[in-house]
Amino acid sequence: MGCRPFIHRLARQCDLTGFVYNDFSGVTIEIQGAASSISGFIDRLRSDNNKPPLLEVAECNIADIAPVDSEDGFVIRTSDTDVVNATTQVTADTATCSDCLREMFDPDDFRYRYPFINCTNCGPRYSLIKSIPYDRPATTMADFTMCPKCSGQYSDITDRRYHAQPVACRACGPKIWLTDNRGETIETDSDTVISKTVQVLRQGGIAAIRGIGGFHLAVDAFNDEAVRLLRSRKRRDHKPFAMMAGSIEIIKKYAVVDDLAEKLLTDPRSPVVLLEHRRDEGAAQIVPSVASGVNTLGFMLCYAPLHHLLFAEDGIEVLVMTSANLSDEPLICDNEVALEKLGDVADIFLMHDREIYRQLDDSVIHVIDGEPASLRRARGFVPGPILSARPTPLDIFAAGADLKNTFCLVKGNQYILSEHIGDLKDALVFSHYKRSVEHLKKLFTVNPEVVACDLHPGYLSTQYAESLNADRIIHIQHHWAHIASALTEFDCHGPVIGLVADGTGLGTDDCIWGCECLIASLTEFERFAHLAYFPLPGGDKASKEPIRPVMGLLRSITGDDSYLQKYGSLLNAIEPDTAKMQTIATQLEKNINTVNTSSMGRLFDAAAAILALGRYNHFEAQLPMALEATADGQVDDSYEFSVTCAPAGTLQLDLRNLIEQLIEDSGKGIAPGRISAMFHNTVAEAMAEIARRARQKHGLMTVALSGGVFCNRYLTNRLITLLKNDGFSVLFKRDVPTNDGGIALGQAAIAVKALSI
Ligand code: ZN
Ligand code: ZN
Ligand code: FE
Repeated sequence: MGCRPFIHRLARQCDLTGFVYNDFSGVTIEIQGAASSISGFIDRLRSDNNKPPLLEVAECNIADIAPVDSEDGFVIRTSDTDVVNATTQVTADTATCSDCLREMFDPDDFRYRYPFINCTNCGPRYSLIKSIPYDRPATTMADFTMCPKCSGQYSDITDRRYHAQPVACRACGPKIWLTDNRGETIETDSDTVISKTVQVLRQGGIAAIRGIGGFHLAVDAFNDEAVRLLRSRKRRDHKPFAMMAGSIEIIKKYAVVDDLAEKLLTDPRSPVVLLEHRRDEGAAQIVPSVASGVNTLGFMLCYAPLHHLLFAEDGIEVLVMTSANLSDEPLICDNEVALEKLGDVADIFLMHDREIYRQLDDSVIHVIDGEPASLRRARGFVPGPILSARPTPLDIFAAGADLKNTFCLVKGNQYILSEHIGDLKDALVFSHYKRSVEHLKKLFTVNPEVVACDLHPGYLSTQYAESLNADRIIHIQHHWAHIASALTEFDCHGPVIGLVADGTGLGTDDCIWGCECLIASLTEFERFAHLAYFPLPGGDKASKEPIRPVMGLLRSITGDDSYLQKYGSLLNAIEPDTAKMQTIATQLEKNINTVNTSSMGRLFDAAAAILALGRYNHFEAQLPMALEATADGQVDDSYEFSVTCAPAGTLQLDLRNLIEQLIEDSGKGIAPGRISAMFHNTVAEAMAEIARRARQKHGLMTVALSGGVFCNRYLTNRLITLLKNDGFSVLFKRDVPTNDGGIALGQAAIAVKALSI
């Protein structure tokens, strides 16, 4: 992040000699010179307005040491520890800085309108680094030889581009060009490429635009027909699209942007921020086809120079900018692959020749309990390590889970969590996963002797972990890993009361767990309570088709097949195919292909289907998101629930009553907004009640929350408020997603702890 060059410049300006280097504890500077120069240096280090935007002086310790004879000059020393060296050298990709923007729009600057302008304070890093040491030949910039002007800046210690590896200009650097969907070049003049792309977008066309971490598919967010065309061609009928705008003022026309949201949007990491849809009169409207069935809009600001150039053209205000891939396949980053895969999707391709070495999705953030929380951790955030107080003796690899996969490498006191990889069931994603593990192992010189993975033998991540033949492999229960990831982010060892609200994960009793209260530390866990089991027929289909959890729940209410009669009209409304329903009923009756589950995700699916909000999850959690979007925030009431004790002593949260009340109210024609709010309120109250009982028995005051269902803002805000009002301290993850994207970190932490015992 340009930290050492900055210190180097400062030391020279202050006429000091000495050196600077990075190590485990941070940056060490040794300086020698006149007392006034030294104090001037320290003052400027603390306050300099010109210091790199990503450099923050968190703590500054000063000590006097003996003078060194005959020292001349100030140098940057290399660090001696490999991993520190690697993680300090390989930094995240950063949005274009204001200095570069000013230059790019300055007709007198030699990088005027150059789409790849960057400096030590901004630009691509992780996405183009192949290996370390981080030097131009080790990046995808190796093919471009710097012109005298660029190399002059690159080697001038006083210049903002000193040692900025991706430095380039129009004369020597990467270029853009435009092709049609067969790969025929339409245009090569940089400015005309930009204006022609915008022209196509204005006319409702679809553009594939190569960016920092991969291609985006772009359409005008005000053109309903274009958005629908993109949906049908991309085979993505329902999932909300992310959008990009040129300024915060434009985003404010469509979404609620408070100070925190503004800070997140303008952060150099430039994530997609989920913002509340403005519904007031006077609010401008994006076409509904961009994001239906949710109450948020996902916006980001331009983060690459190319984006700024596109948005500087007339007639472009907001673009849908969605990751370019087909359904669940990996993000596309190569020019040839883009043409091959997206030839039928995009009308034009804005290409460039700066290769993308690491494909990186846009990161996604939302706000929970007044603070930002990560939903997808990728561009801008990765590979920033998560530090732990105690170093591990052996290198560790944690394989993660199969959905929303990330994996984690541990070396010393650093947890290096990979970027969002995707759902491993797609064969291309799985091979990308395997390649990524190998690449990051090499990049960060991690040689794992210990491997951690999920308990589920059917997970591809588990099978991959087992295939590595490590000295030691540790299988870890999914929801324990969920809670452990929260403990790790807060550097807490537990025990705590771990509340999990999740889709599915294999339990230690071969049932499918999902709503759990675990008394958990990094060493062990005990299942204190869970949602009372209900039968779930149909394996994998159960997470797509809500009729399955609905029938399972109703059968557990009636105890026999009488539910088919009693709730016949409701069931028919959810699943009109009576033959299919009969098959499911038989599965339930005969216990074929049926598992017992405590899944909270399936309970939400069932509730959404009962309220007629949908009959199918076209993407993960579509129905629960629709349920959340419907909830009326003014409603404080809730339904009844009960807590019982199983023979083994584990508490059971019985929400069957809740389902019955839901059906009854829905039948009475009570507004879905009210019913949905009462449903959410009940779940929050029930989980808070479980936490109170755990506190009573175990004397613990800290609650850690984790699991995919806590992506639900309504539920999570409500539960956190209840817990805090009741005197609990609450650990809710901010840096690492609460969904399965956080699993690997928890697995890694449990493995670290197992090694140190
Ligand atoms: Zn810059
Ligand atoms: Zn140049
Ligand atoms: Fe999970």
